[in-house]
Amino acid sequence: MSYNRAYNFSAGPSMLPLSVIESVAENLPNYKGCGESVMEMSHRSKEFKTILEEAEKDLREIMNIPDNYKVMFLQGGGTLQFAMVPLNLLRKSGKADYIITGSWAKKAAKEAKKFGDIKIVASSEESTFSYIPEVKKEDFRPDADYVHITFNNTIYGTHYPYIPDTGDIPLVADMSSCILSEEIDVSKFGLIYAGAQKNVAPSGVTIVIMREDLIGFAKETVPTYLDYKVHAENDSAYNTPNCFGIYVAGEVFKHIKNIGGIAAMHDLDVKKAKKLYDYIDSSQLYTCPVREQDRSLMNVVFVTGNGDLDKKFVAEGKAAGLHNLNGHRSIGGMRASIYNAMPMEGVDALIDFMKKFEAENK
Ligand code: PLP
Repeated sequence: MSYNRAYNFSAGPSMLPLSVIESVAENLPNYKGCGESVMEMSHRSKEFKTILEEAEKDLREIMNIPDNYKVMFLQGGGTLQFAMVPLNLLRKSGKADYIITGSWAKKAAKEAKKFGDIKIVASSEESTFSYIPEVKKEDFRPDADYVHITFNNTIYGTHYPYIPDTGDIPLVADMSSCILSEEIDVSKFGLIYAGAQKNVAPSGVTIVIMREDLIGFAKETVPTYLDYKVHAENDSAYNTPNCFGIYVAGEVFKHIKNIGGIAAMHDLDVKKAKKLYDYIDSSQLYTCPVREQDRSLMNVVFVTGNGDLDKKFVAEGKAAGLHNLNGHRSIGGMRASIYNAMPMEGVDALIDFMKKFEAENK
């Protein structure tokens, strides 16, 4: 069936797989014949418990999450994690080291500074975050309670080409804009968090994957909801969770399983991104400011070098059914977010449009 849908290049919330939307729509008034919509269902019901358990099981399977990690489905977005991480993990020295690779990393560090001794060990701000700094184990304070990185930088279109070696210091990664787009070795991280609204589900769910031995260190003054232990002990249902968001997330996990897992997803993501970067690099009009080895598969940033032309591009793109091609409001230019659910046809349509626009605006 055709729904006349646009290709939506938004940085988030963003597209979901059409097959998931169709299955959710089919079950919307009466979930699998149980007589209720998931939107209306008690979070203590048998049906919802099954949805939650299956979502966790499937996520564990596709990400190959080791048994000594807890999986939590929380609320508050990546933004609340900027506070929850220091409130729970500043447990010995009260020190944490941050690498600054963009606005979200800066916000995470700024929030953490409210709670402890935060050191910026590296930053690429001097070059408008156009690359990922190389950081060695010796750069971290040996007594730091954790190291924080933003694995994919949504606004600047960069991604870590390596996992920093932090030795025994737990590594915390914000994977909001790249989770499920690549196979990662979860055991290299102490904690991974990701807002769902880019690669997983509608907004309102945050995935937290946390090594068990790091749980249980929040001070008594930490609000109940902000203590990971509370959520870990109550299987993400201490209070009313985002039932509908978790349900859609579960459907997306099943979809990824069905297409061959994260390895298959990654192959497609690499093909889409390569096609777009190759075209940008060959064009006379567009340039990508990001160092080649640090380019994101998810957020492709490019400019024409002329602010008015950039605005025209975004407006004409929208009229052609290519939505949300504007760069983040803080930097302008263009950004095509090509998350997991963007089909190859969407990338092809974008490249065709870019070629036409280039020919018309020489
Ligand atoms: N971290 C990254 C990498 C993001 O891209 C975003 C939002 O786009 C956030 C954190 C903030 O997430 P939220 O709006 O879910 O709080």
